[in-house]
Amino acid sequence: MEQLAIFGGTPVRQRPIGYGRQCIEQDDIDAVVETLKSDYLTCGPKITEVEQKLCQITGARYAVVVSNGTAALHVAAMAAGFGEGDEVIVSSITFAASSNCVLYCGAKPVFADIRPDTYNIDPDSIRKLITPKTRAVIAVDFTGQAVELDEIKAICKEHELLLIEDAAHSIGTRYKGQPVGSIADMTCFSFHPVKTVTGGEGGAITTNDEALYRRLLRLRAHGITRNRDEMEHPTDARWYYEQVELGYNYRMTDFQAALLISQLNKLSKFSARRKEIVKKYDEAFSQMPELVVQREIPESDTTRHLYILRLNLEKLGCDRRQFFDALYAENTCPQVHYLPVYWHPYYERSGYEKGLCPNAEKFYCEVMSIPLYYALTDDEVEDVIRAVKKIVEYYRV
Ligand SMILES: *Cc1c(COP(=O)(O)O)cnc(C)c1O
Repeated sequence: MEQLAIFGGTPVRQRPIGYGRQCIEQDDIDAVVETLKSDYLTCGPKITEVEQKLCQITGARYAVVVSNGTAALHVAAMAAGFGEGDEVIVSSITFAASSNCVLYCGAKPVFADIRPDTYNIDPDSIRKLITPKTRAVIAVDFTGQAVELDEIKAICKEHELLLIEDAAHSIGTRYKGQPVGSIADMTCFSFHPVKTVTGGEGGAITTNDEALYRRLLRLRAHGITRNRDEMEHPTDARWYYEQVELGYNYRMTDFQAALLISQLNKLSKFSARRKEIVKKYDEAFSQMPELVVQREIPESDTTRHLYILRLNLEKLGCDRRQFFDALYAENTCPQVHYLPVYWHPYYERSGYEKGLCPNAEKFYCEVMSIPLYYALTDDEVEDVIRAVKKIVEYYRV
């Protein structure tokens, strides 16, 4: 840690600034406490209420909340009918859950490369990977920026593929004015505390398709139905329910739903503050040739979940590791999003080789995510910018 001698010490804070953090206010706490005192801790009215709220925000006809974003992806993959012998095209720069859901179903993830400037899945890469076995595309709105939905939807339509949008980063984002959540066949959200709004844990799937909706509801609860139309041995007995397929217990609790409703009510203020911070960073970093600023497509009005600091390594006498450690010594804790999924040993062992997605691999070696969250103060933003400048000036070649 040679940098520690050069970098560090300023500013002194009680705790270092991390890359993301939830914002919980008194009304969020009150909403949870009130629900804890109510009749229902699970399967109660808050579930219906939060699902209605999600429909309202996204413009989708149906919403199903589940225990976390990974569960949302899992039931979406099951509802899509993925199975042995199927291939599903997935973004290569994402959290592993985006492609693990394909593996849960016994199907094969096929990794598409990213665009070098937006960092989102490249539609040309999708086209090249389509085979007769391809069933669907899972496109991730990386950092919160919407993927090129028009073009990807056109590809899916032409080849009869289902489009699942992993919107774990992108609640609040609009594509051509339309909210994320109402555009793909199914859109999956995560409400982990690091994301823009949180339920502690939590996830959701939105869709406009009634058949998918019915299936998602069943899969959330063991594959059990109380709906007579879905039964094999229907009866009007009040106690009766049937398990018609194999599902899971992926339910959300009512107190999580209460927290989530309270947080969703603040989405526009969360979104506005995130946009302000992104603007400050963009303005500061676009003036430094040693750094690369993420390109935003004009169609996306983005609520950014992550801010990617990308190094132009030709103009810096250091590597990403040295820069990361220097920033860490400056009391800012960055993180790297993400290792190309197929570089994880579990995937490597299945035969995915390095070199598969050159843009994704280059991206990984040049990036780190710096603090971006609602409660970040202007002073803290300035501190981060000052620290980045100091390191850039030190390593500039
Ligand atoms: C967070 C995240 C998930 C998983 O969500 P959990 O709620 O943590 O299970 C999936 N995909 C992406 C892109 C994510 O960032």
